[in-house]
Amino acid sequence: MSIDSSTTLYCLIGNPIDKSLSPLIHNEMFRIFGKNSIYLAFNIEENKLRDVIDGFKAINVKGFNVTIPFKKTIIRYLDGLSPEAEILGAVNTVKNQDGKLIGYNTDGEGFYKTLRNNDIDVKDKNILLLGAGGAAYGIGITLSTKGIKSIYIANRTREKAVNLEKEIKKINPNISTSIGDLSLREINKKDIDIIINATSIGMYPLENLSPIELNGFDKKTIVYDIVYKPRETKLIKEANLRGFKAINGLSMLLEQAILSQKVWFNLDEKFLEKAKKVEGLLLVYVE
Ligand code: NAP
Repeated sequence: MSIDSSTTLYCLIGNPIDKSLSPLIHNEMFRIFGKNSIYLAFNIEENKLRDVIDGFKAINVKGFNVTIPFKKTIIRYLDGLSPEAEILGAVNTVKNQDGKLIGYNTDGEGFYKTLRNNDIDVKDKNILLLGAGGAAYGIGITLSTKGIKSIYIANRTREKAVNLEKEIKKINPNISTSIGDLSLREINKKDIDIIINATSIGMYPLENLSPIELNGFDKKTIVYDIVYKPRETKLIKEANLRGFKAINGLSMLLEQAILSQKVWFNLDEKFLEKAKKVEGLLLVYVE
């Protein structure tokens, strides 16, 4: 890559960002797409967020990603939102459109794309969603627009599960919803088609834990752990041992990044397929 006076800047803002794979992924995609662009990561303090956004506008940063803890707070500094970001109330991708900063959210659609890549149809399916944080919101709300039959939200903090349930009901009142904690005491495990772990359990420093035990679920159940580091979480290991179809979080990480590039460069699907090559690179970095 050579940097010159026409190189455009893209970046990630968050705190902490030191373990982020986004610079690796996006710089590799720029190379694949032949873009004269560079992607950096910035660790930002909350009280500097306004200055950072003003600075981005002043130096004409073309786009950026937003991660924890700014996915919601960033909204007040933006000039507009995509319909998905509006519904989710959270932004992970921002595009500079002629000086106006527009927020998008590619988390939910990135997740959904990976289901389609695995030939998984969620229509009329019963979902067990573990977690009610930012990622669970994106996934739960996206799934509620895709024809699922029911969703059980299991979360440590009940209030957050209640809020997510309300949002899902607003979007599609026909979905049967229920909530509980990670003990899953009130759930009929045999009915569950897809388990999605969207908690941080399984990720460093909780890598020796699993959010739930898999005994009692039907063999046809699909286990999707959106945690990608480690690649094989305790939950994924157990799913593999028990013969369930198991999917880890790397493909979602890649798909939501591809969708960010789609937002920034208006690339068509065929062109975006080329970005799948980045997966090989990720496998080297994520054990
Ligand atoms: P978040 O907003 O902080 O939410 C964290 C979730 O995990 C909450 O539901 C929280 O429950 C639960 N949790 C955390 N520690 C727990 C513990 N010790 N016991 C029980 N529950 C616990 O984070 P997020 O953005 O949703 O991310 C969640 C995970 O998904 C992370 O591991 C992240 O790396 C991963 N992720 C992956 C992708 C991908 O592309 N593959 C994308 C986004 C996120 P409470 O509500 O009770 O706090």
